[in-house]
Formats: sequence, C-alpha cells, structure tokens
Amino acid sequence: MFVLLSQLRSLRRSTALTRGSTPRWLGIRHVDAGSCNGCEHELGLVTNPLHDLQRYGLDIVASPRHADVLLITGPVTTRMVEPLRIAYAAMPTPRLVAALGDCALGCNVLGHPDELAGPVERILPVDIRIPGCPPTPQQIASQLLAALERPADSGQPLAAATAVAASGVRTDGERIRD
Ligand code: SF4
Repeated sequence: MFVLLSQLRSLRRSTALTRGSTPRWLGIRHVDAGSCNGCEHELGLVTNPLHDLQRYGLDIVASPRHADVLLITGPVTTRMVEPLRIAYAAMPTPRLVAALGDCALGCNVLGHPDELAGPVERILPVDIRIPGCPPTPQQIASQLLAALERPADSGQPLAAATAVAASGVRTDGERIRD
C-alpha cells in the first residue's frame, strides 16, 4: 500500500498540475451534444485517482442548477440545440460555457452535414476552449485550471466566476453573459 501511494504521488507530480493558494470550487455540468464518446472517455479520466480534479476544487455535478460551468462535447446535433439552451438557462449566474474537443470547437472533424447545428459557439457563448480529438485528461485538467488561475482583474468573464467561487457564494445578480 505504501509503495502504491508513493507511486501515485510521483504520478501526480508528473502531471505538473499546481495547487492554487486560493480555495475555490466550481461545479461542472457535462452535456454530450453528439460526441463519438472519445471526449467523454478522456473527461471521465480527469476524476480518477491519478488526475483527481476534485482536489483542485473542480467537480462534475448532476444538474445544471448546481453548475458554474456547462461543459459541452460533440459537434452539436440539431436535436441537441434546445436541450443545450435549456441547460444553460437553468444555470445560476454567473455561468460559463466550455467547449471540449475539436468537434465542439468546429474544427470540421465530421464535415457539415444537415444534422449538425454546431459548433457550440453558434449556440452559446464559449468562455473556455479545450482543443484536441480527443484532448488528453491532462490537457482537459490543465485548461480548466488555467482558466481558474486567470487574475481576478483581467476583465475576462471567467475571472468573475472564479471570484464568486472563491467566496463560496452564488449570486443571481450580475450576469457574465446573457
Ligand atoms: S473531438 Fe474527436 S474524440 Fe471528441 S467527439 Fe469529436 S471525433 Fe470524438
């Protein structure tokens, strides 16, 4: 057991993810908008004992009502447009949208068939972009954490959400974007 824990610490160090000094928490609601499941597979790995995103204050939540970030994978099929809008509308403000994977970012992985309405930014405002097909768990974790580490006075939308998350207080007052 001791050897296992020692190896685990070593692997965590090798991911080069740093722990910020400011305590904070962000809830992430994931929506599959037509993915091949490759991005979901990698996303699932960020919560395993190696990457362990929860220790940095990021966690996957079950409802958009509990989420600060709407994390979207897939090229956005026409049938997923309305569910995405409904999920976004259900989130408390301030709220953020993350597009995960080249499909969600509109990198033409699947071409432009009539069944696709994406990319995500055509449907919702995108604050966090995580490229890759699929991105690795480390890339996903690093992009989310890098976004969290933006300085509070940067004027970028995410900084406001980080400040709210750091205070531990949600508000339905000022909106980041509508
Ligand atoms: S970006 Fe790649 S892995 Fe992710 S949903 Fe598209 S084709 Fe699949």
